[in-house]
Amino acid sequence: MKCPNCGSRSAVEVDMHSGGFSSEESPVKECAACGLVWRIKTGGDKPEIDIIKPANKKN
Ligand SMILES: [Zn+2]
Repeated sequence: MKCPNCGSRSAVEVDMHSGGFSSEESPVKECAACGLVWRIKTGGDKPEIDIIKPANKKN
């Protein structure tokens, strides 16, 4: 999956919840390039990007 912020494909899965994931939520991803942490919520009519931590800003 590409990073929704910078488009990098170097995102890695991170396990932030010990209780596992529900069927409506995909595993949390962290972009190794920009630091964005997000997941895709699929419980609604269409997939929705849920930003958990904003990307690191260098300026
Ligand atoms: Zn990124």
